[in-house]
Amino acid sequence: MSVSDLVRVQYFFVSFMQKTMTNPFLQIEDLHKTFSVKAGPARTVAARAVDGVSLTVAPGEVVGLVGESGCGKSTLGRLVLGLLPPTSGRVIVEGRDIASLNKSALRALRRKMQVIFQDPFASLNPRMRVRDIITEPLVIHDLAKRSDLDARAVELLGKVGLPADAAMRYPHEFSGGQRQRIGIARALACRPSFIVADEPVSALDVSVQAQIINLLEEIQKEMELSFLFIAHDLNLVRYFSDRVAVMYLGKIVEIAPAEEIYRSPSHPYTEALLADIPVLDPTIKKKRILLKGDIPSPTSIPPGCRFHTRCLYRFEPCDKIVPRTTDLGNGHFVDCHLRG
Ligand code: SF4
Repeated sequence: MSVSDLVRVQYFFVSFMQKTMTNPFLQIEDLHKTFSVKAGPARTVAARAVDGVSLTVAPGEVVGLVGESGCGKSTLGRLVLGLLPPTSGRVIVEGRDIASLNKSALRALRRKMQVIFQDPFASLNPRMRVRDIITEPLVIHDLAKRSDLDARAVELLGKVGLPADAAMRYPHEFSGGQRQRIGIARALACRPSFIVADEPVSALDVSVQAQIINLLEEIQKEMELSFLFIAHDLNLVRYFSDRVAVMYLGKIVEIAPAEEIYRSPSHPYTEALLADIPVLDPTIKKKRILLKGDIPSPTSIPPGCRFHTRCLYRFEPCDKIVPRTTDLGNGHFVDCHLRG
């Protein structure tokens, strides 16, 4: 299949999703991001971090984005937020291409799109009081009078389950979970419509992870927020997401409603990620699928199916022909010759 055929398939995928969702909040069209990487004293090579991603997120929808470290998930999150310019492709928010927006329109849009970072230790300024951290976005966007900031800080702290007296303390006085709550309060300050949560619990103890996920779920329902929830652990996104997209080496290789992808994973990579989730019940025997080797470098993406170097099921066409996107029905799409 030629490159133009593949692009057409991607666009078919986007238009299908558009038909099934009324006015998506976010629409990503054939997005690419390539970085130049030094490969010697006088040589650079291209690293294709995001390599032709198309995706939509409806108002109030949670899309989980999973894959191993280095597959391009965080780069995609930064492209969506306009923190990085794409090499090609489009990011459309509420019907407007963000590349076409002037400074003030982009600023207004940024109010609606917030981020929760992975590391609650690094993402909070240690010299600022919590009150100033969480109300800073209100000051930047001129959304509140100075005299109202104390009350807004207390309101935001209450929303994330922290006491009012936390406002006058500094980040180092809090545990990891509490710091992540502060990060969430900051993200909510401007009453956004959409949040990119970039591995928001992976730096936390397992016991605290569930509390933060529950908090995000409550807030999502209450404020009807859209989320792009980035994680490397499929189990984490399972209960929080409406749909799950699985990303491998810069590309989405499978996307489906959350329950469907857990019930019947169709891409061998998704199957391997699911097989890696520990089962607490010792009576349940689970087939373990070990992925061979590490994820290849984005500077040398394998030909054909990019997963073929690690796939247990690879066969004749896999190392030569790029698999097309197959529609399995019910919003379930997969890139694999086994299903094509
Ligand atoms: Fe495996 Fe081939 Fe499917 Fe790729 S196309 S995931 S190599 S079976």
